[in-house]
Amino acid sequence: MAAKGNRVKITKIACHVLLVPDVDEDATSSAQDDIVVEVHTDEGVTGIGETDLNPWIARACIEAPSTHTMGLGLTGMLLGQDPLDVERLWDKLYIGSAMNGRRGAVVHAIGALDIALHDLRGKILGKPCYALLGDTARPRITPYASLLGEGATAEAYGESLVRMATEASRRGFRAAKLELILSGPYAHGGLRVPGHVMTEIIAAVRRAVGPEFVLMVDVGYGFPDAVTCLATIQDWHEFALFFLETPLSPDDLAGHALLAREQPIPIAAGEWLATRYEFLDLLDRGLVGVAQPDVGRVGGLTEARRVCDLAADRGRLIVPHAWKTGVSIAAAAHLAAATAHCPYIEFLPSDMSGSALRRELVSRDFAMVDGYIELSDQPGLGVELDRDVLERYSVA
Ligand SMILES: [Mg+2]
Repeated sequence: MAAKGNRVKITKIACHVLLVPDVDEDATSSAQDDIVVEVHTDEGVTGIGETDLNPWIARACIEAPSTHTMGLGLTGMLLGQDPLDVERLWDKLYIGSAMNGRRGAVVHAIGALDIALHDLRGKILGKPCYALLGDTARPRITPYASLLGEGATAEAYGESLVRMATEASRRGFRAAKLELILSGPYAHGGLRVPGHVMTEIIAAVRRAVGPEFVLMVDVGYGFPDAVTCLATIQDWHEFALFFLETPLSPDDLAGHALLAREQPIPIAAGEWLATRYEFLDLLDRGLVGVAQPDVGRVGGLTEARRVCDLAADRGRLIVPHAWKTGVSIAAAAHLAAATAHCPYIEFLPSDMSGSALRRELVSRDFAMVDGYIELSDQPGLGVELDRDVLERYSVA
């Protein structure tokens, strides 16, 4: 640990491109690949981060050298800097990469670095990330089980969701989300399932888990427009859904606003967005009830924290997206612990995940007791990489 007054310096940034061995381009799961970054210091302390972006693209964003003052390289800007200055470093990276970034891949890559810097700061100061993120820290958070069905037909997919939701309830979860990504451009296995079949699947799950269990539905951008969506979901209020996630393209802000006005289920969105500025549009023009920053993609814990403040100002909820490995889940958990208006985090127990990276990359998984996760007071994110697993799935 650094002695007081001694500046810690960033000395090296390492990127690892990882892929599960059974990667399937037709599967709707971004947990099949990963970019893991390690930020090293002259004190021997290392921070880890990741982001939900094609890992080769993420690595290029992080390693590209500077070419001019408005296109500085991310690694170049961080070397020699003090990792305790996390918020100042975020602004430095954002401004210095402005002509290449401001949104999209570069901001997602900044997110991986920022998570690693928060991990480092916690480790250097001997405090968990959540304790350094906000003054409302409450280490007990509520996970919801994020359930991605399986099967080649709508019937098999629906049955798998009934089975998984029942299992989630049996394990003590208080809430679960059904991934009904069965239509539209990102549909699972190329399925094209009519709306009334989706309605039947939700009804079957609701019957299986009973009226008290909290249910959410994610349709994965499955509707072409708000009017088509409204026609399909007109009876879904009977299922008492906590939210309906990503019904429309994130670019259709007017469509989001129409859904918010014309039907009672809160709309949730934001998993792909980068920076608080994109969330401002989603909140103020799209009128979403639940903002879902993915901590890596939005630009890291620093920027996710700013999005939480925007949502609080407008009386909206935060439920972060996390569909990666234990690193992202830890980042989302620390954000939730520091955010009073975050009722749930997305969480799939590693042994229920189809992704080897989710199951194996981080050596310790959060334990759920009585439907809650209690964060420890371990410094930083409180998770460590399994070096053997990192090597085994490393492809570049
Ligand atoms: Mg989703």
